[in-house]
Amino acid sequence: MAEPKYIFCTGGVVSSVGKGVTAAAIGRILKARGLKVAIQKLDPYLNVDPGTMSPYQHGEVFVTADGAETDLDLGHYERFTDELLTRSCNVTTGQLYSHVIDKERRGDYLGGTIQVIPHITNEIKRRIAMVAKESSADVVLVEVGGTVGDIESQPFLEAIRQMRMSLDRSDTLCVHVTYLPYIGATGELKTKPTQHSVRELRATGIHPHVIIARTDYPVSHDITSKIAQFCDVEEKAVIALVTTDLLYEVPLTLEEAGLGDYLVEKLKLKATKPNLTDWRKMITRMRAAQKPVRIGVVGKYIELRDAYMSVKEALFHAAASHDRKLEIVWISSGDLEKGKGWTELESVDGIVVPGGFGYRGVEGKVMAARFAREKKVPYLGLCLGMQVMCVEFARNVLGLEDANSTEFDQSSDHPVIDLMLEQRGVTDLGGTMRLGLYPCKLTPGSAAAKAYKAPEIQERHRHRFEFNNIYRTPFEQAGMRFSGMSPDGLLVEISELEDHPFMVGSQFHPEFLSRPTKAHPLFASLIEATIDHEKERASGNNGAAPQQETHARTNGLQHNDHAITEKSELRNT
Ligand code: GLN
Repeated sequence: MAEPKYIFCTGGVVSSVGKGVTAAAIGRILKARGLKVAIQKLDPYLNVDPGTMSPYQHGEVFVTADGAETDLDLGHYERFTDELLTRSCNVTTGQLYSHVIDKERRGDYLGGTIQVIPHITNEIKRRIAMVAKESSADVVLVEVGGTVGDIESQPFLEAIRQMRMSLDRSDTLCVHVTYLPYIGATGELKTKPTQHSVRELRATGIHPHVIIARTDYPVSHDITSKIAQFCDVEEKAVIALVTTDLLYEVPLTLEEAGLGDYLVEKLKLKATKPNLTDWRKMITRMRAAQKPVRIGVVGKYIELRDAYMSVKEALFHAAASHDRKLEIVWISSGDLEKGKGWTELESVDGIVVPGGFGYRGVEGKVMAARFAREKKVPYLGLCLGMQVMCVEFARNVLGLEDANSTEFDQSSDHPVIDLMLEQRGVTDLGGTMRLGLYPCKLTPGSAAAKAYKAPEIQERHRHRFEFNNIYRTPFEQAGMRFSGMSPDGLLVEISELEDHPFMVGSQFHPEFLSRPTKAHPLFASLIEATIDHEKERASGNNGAAPQQETHARTNGLQHNDHAITEKSELRNT
């Protein structure tokens, strides 16, 4: 097997400028040239993975097929390149140190002094090589998290410098993503921070070949040529990337700026002519979709949308596949508990309750599920969203008043959602959930089977709790159908309501498998049902009960203080 080529992607000036999307977009333009690409993210923090971090710290935790809890940039990589990533594709400083220290304890380095250079840097290089080997990619893109100049990213940059030294000149290339601030008073974009960050990068021994300057404003040729001159980069390798409302357009912007050809030339890649025809068609379709479709997402981190990144994208793909423009109405589940946000909930034509952990806001999610069931509003519950759908059904249809998940109430008389058998006795919190891809058999004729058009599927999981089988019969007798089961018939993976246009909950996270080019069947079915609901509503036949009833219900909960400590919430995050 030929050695792959490596593209290293670093960031300068500030974080959160879209380095992940840029790396993903580069992956797409290379794939469009018939090349096999793999992408890896190096994260400089000391956590082993983001699985135990609060969404406030980290945003969404993206789960790979092989069950790794990873950075949300891996979601961008998979969506843009449509290549499956593995646990090797996200490396953290925590992983590096725990591996090296374990080896030291075993005596593998007996007699030696263990140091950042060479032991940690060697481990970084070994992990980059691992992705190259596992993927047999032609090009491995390696994104370094954080910003150049951070103390903690230095070992990564040093490892990259060493790799560049030991490989052929045309085998590696560095792309530096920076930001051009705009000074309102003078109406200017400034290049100085870019110049400084390049200087900082060069101090580590890495000279960038390509500079991608992110900006919120149009960039003149003067600016790019100034960057080229001051940063010692070819003019054609300085690319301005103006903020876009459509992330999937970035590959086209980079392609039009000539980046694909430049990379092929510099890395001496054996590539075909770029074929972005389908991607372009997809963008045209997404842009043409003007009629909105309104979906309410009921979650507890709504002020922090990155926490629901894949859900947001999956809804977007599904709306576009129905030629609709997605309009998400973010509704705080905590607000619903206090009687707020109901007008918003009543205004949407479809509801999604995404995954989550911890008690805060969960009663609001149960209320949203009740609203969707009673008002026959299309509903998709994802993991916790499925569990609250079952809790609500138990309480209000079966009359089991204190039904709950034991995650929230261990003394409930009716634990309809309970800790999985395999989770009992698990004490460590990191990486111990039911994670990754599992098969699921669908009941013929169910909404799920109709959506998937397949008898068996595989989806990604991340949970500790599951439906309690003791309650299967009473639930079924009352109109809940368990339309997706693990092949051994022991685990409920999908539940749905019989007497409802579309009320489906999945114990897994379908959002991780949605692609812009291929909307996920469950999300696409939700949007289809939402459009039907919207039409019915327009014809004045939505069967909505008087508003008063809703408010009476919420007011009852107004003084019910469900506050939990952030700590116990984090334990479960
Ligand atoms: N907290 C629930 C569980 O662990 C749901 C998890 C989730 O939504 N990802 O089972």
